[in-house]
Amino acid sequence: MIVIENGRVLRANGVEEATVTVEGDTVTAVGSAPGRNGARVIDARGAWIGPGFVDLHVHFREPGQTWKEDLESGARSAAAGGFTAVLTMPNTDPPVDDGPSALRAIGAARAIGAARVEVAGALTRDRAGVEMADFDSMYDAGVRVFTDDGDSVPDAGLLRRIMTYLAGLPGAVVAEHAEDVRLTEGGQLHEGSMSALHGLVGLPGAGEDVIVARDLALARATEPVFTSSTCQPAPRSTSSVTPGPQGWQ
Ligand SMILES: [Zn+2]
Repeated sequence: MIVIENGRVLRANGVEEATVTVEGDTVTAVGSAPGRNGARVIDARGAWIGPGFVDLHVHFREPGQTWKEDLESGARSAAAGGFTAVLTMPNTDPPVDDGPSALRAIGAARAIGAARVEVAGALTRDRAGVEMADFDSMYDAGVRVFTDDGDSVPDAGLLRRIMTYLAGLPGAVVAEHAEDVRLTEGGQLHEGSMSALHGLVGLPGAGEDVIVARDLALARATEPVFTSSTCQPAPRSTSSVTPGPQGWQ
């Protein structure tokens, strides 16, 4: 039994100071500890206690840019920060765009044994936006989220074929980067009074809107599980849509 005391507990209805008792892999009490005979007591003063956080958008930069981050440093820092599961983006060098590259990343991540690391694969080969990535071999390797994160697929016809294909793979998710670079090129911050005041090149909201609108039209027609976001300095907030029982939400 483990008794964690003096921490701030994140609960659905707010934050409270409470003692958390864990037996085996189950939280058996939040509040006062039912008993602590033989328990390992952890003093969590100054720390948060909550369910494991999940980050669906991380860059561990391995292979290709490991001076920034690698799978081990990323997985260990995730675990240290309370993140028990993360999803790595495929824009490594080379990108994760086929089964062998996915298997390498998944195998290396699992061997670390810190946070659970899942691997997203690219939508297009080499993330170049020209031809489909090898979805079948990545899917067989265990990949379920596909994105060219950092770039949207510029060719609507290609994206339509990609969505149609991935709609046929159970559990597969199309995650599109929402940015038309012809509208946002050179942008440094949201376009508005602050960009004008400081003389900086603005990112117009339309740079995100036009891609989201295009992608929603394609997603309605092809019905994959679809989500849209951007990790750039977002012109607007992150948006997300999924097919539900009442249609698109
Ligand atoms: Zn990103």
